[in-house]
Amino acid sequence: MHFDYLVIGGGSGGLASARRAARHGAKVGLIEAGRLGGTCVNVGCVPKKVMWNAASVAEALHDAHDYGFEAKTGPFNWKKVKDARDAYVKRLNDIYRRNLEVDCVTSIEGYAKFVGPKTVEVNGERYSGDHVLIAVGGRPKWPSIPGAELGMSSDGFFELEQLPEKVGVVGAGYIAVELAGIFRTLGADVTLFIRHEHFLRSFDVMVRETLMETMLDDGVNVETGREIVKVERREDGKLKVTESRGNAVEPFDALVWAIGRVPNTDQLGLDTSAVTMDEQGNIPVDDFQNTNVDGIYAVGDVTGKHQLTPVAIAAGRRLADRVFGDQSDAKLDYENIPTVVFSHPPIGTVGLTEDEAHERWGTDGVNCYTTRFTNMYHALTTRKTPTAMKLVTVGAHDRVVGVHVIGIGADEMMQGFAVAVKMGATKADFDRTVAIHPTAAEELVTLR
Ligand SMILES: Cc1cc2nc3c(=O)[nH]c(=O)nc-3n(C[C@H](O)[C@H](O)[C@H](O)COP(=O)(O)OP(=O)(O)OC[C@H]3O[C@@H](n4cnc5c(N)ncnc54)[C@H](O)[C@@H]3O)c2cc1C
Repeated sequence: MHFDYLVIGGGSGGLASARRAARHGAKVGLIEAGRLGGTCVNVGCVPKKVMWNAASVAEALHDAHDYGFEAKTGPFNWKKVKDARDAYVKRLNDIYRRNLEVDCVTSIEGYAKFVGPKTVEVNGERYSGDHVLIAVGGRPKWPSIPGAELGMSSDGFFELEQLPEKVGVVGAGYIAVELAGIFRTLGADVTLFIRHEHFLRSFDVMVRETLMETMLDDGVNVETGREIVKVERREDGKLKVTESRGNAVEPFDALVWAIGRVPNTDQLGLDTSAVTMDEQGNIPVDDFQNTNVDGIYAVGDVTGKHQLTPVAIAAGRRLADRVFGDQSDAKLDYENIPTVVFSHPPIGTVGLTEDEAHERWGTDGVNCYTTRFTNMYHALTTRKTPTAMKLVTVGAHDRVVGVHVIGIGADEMMQGFAVAVKMGATKADFDRTVAIHPTAAEELVTLR
């Protein structure tokens, strides 16, 4: 079967691009090997946020007594939340299927493999397109060490039927930090193993150090400079973990590898399409999502940059607008992409870190405005979390090029500030804006 647009991968980027192209009138086929919605809906943002919400409820219950509630609560029922979460994800899968039908996108189930430049084979059938989009995403990376299979990836986290009592999380990226935070807040004894000295190394030093301090206060055992070299199962079923210095750490009920992700390109038969990959297997693209082959494009995690759902969606839609919607200049601007880490408390960030601003503008041209305080919510609670904020500005007009916040509400705060940064707001614009009182966010427009 031949299409105007053949999309491989029904995740965030593929679905968005396919539907937009169909709305422009293209005949579109979309191939998905697993569940529609891809990583974000099935084993990423969505079920993760549900678990973060559950952990936030646990925090509120902990504080309830300080706010005058005498009610006692029972233990946390992980299985109940998992079942409700799975049912929610299933509803989303069905909505995605219906949306494809509404937009007249032909849905093809199975694993696509290139058998020619713009032709793939799925379950023995051949499909081709004038234009082909590769939006196959990625999957969790596994370490090559003895016993690695005794641990689980972030995908496995979402299959857990109960809260493990003692859990090890290995990794230093946002997924490792988020899963460690969820486990801890829901009551597990958590050890976070980090290879280097810091986690979230691409984040501003102020927010990542504040989070480290908070996690340590919360009782997470953060083991820095540790590399796991072996995992074994003990006779009692628990796990023994050996790290590079030869020390054994035990016992763990569960071990989660959150050490990065690899692109789903190794089985794709890309050699037959002549699309080139980099050393990690990512597909390099230009500003317009073009690969090295004319008419074959890539969006989302498989391109190896800014691996976030809204980025995959926006890139996919712009591409469809360009190829099928007569918008020859349509492309995603990858500057100033805001993001949130759903830690406890959350981090919200947009733009350059202080270090990045120094690299780009030199030390003299950069100003930083910072504050640290305890959110008014904690005025009545015994449990306290810090809030820390930083504005990074450059040039004589103090243009704001970075906003970094950790603290209660940072997750919901950042979207609006990202608009301001994207529009080129200056510190004076921030200062001219009347504060909303009493909030934490008001501190960002009153920084001295
Ligand atoms: C634990 C976790 C938490 C996350 N949290 C967030 C968050 O809070 N916010 C955020 O913005 N992002 C988050 N992400 C990242 C986000 O999920 C990804 O950036 C996003 O899903 C990328 O979309 P994509 O379309 O590139 O790939 P995917 O969503 O991975 O979709 C790719 C699809 O292609 C299919 N596929 C692969 N190969 C083939 C083939 N050969 N034939 C047919 N189909 C194929 C796969 O089955 C998959 O469904 C998280 C990720 C993880 C793992």
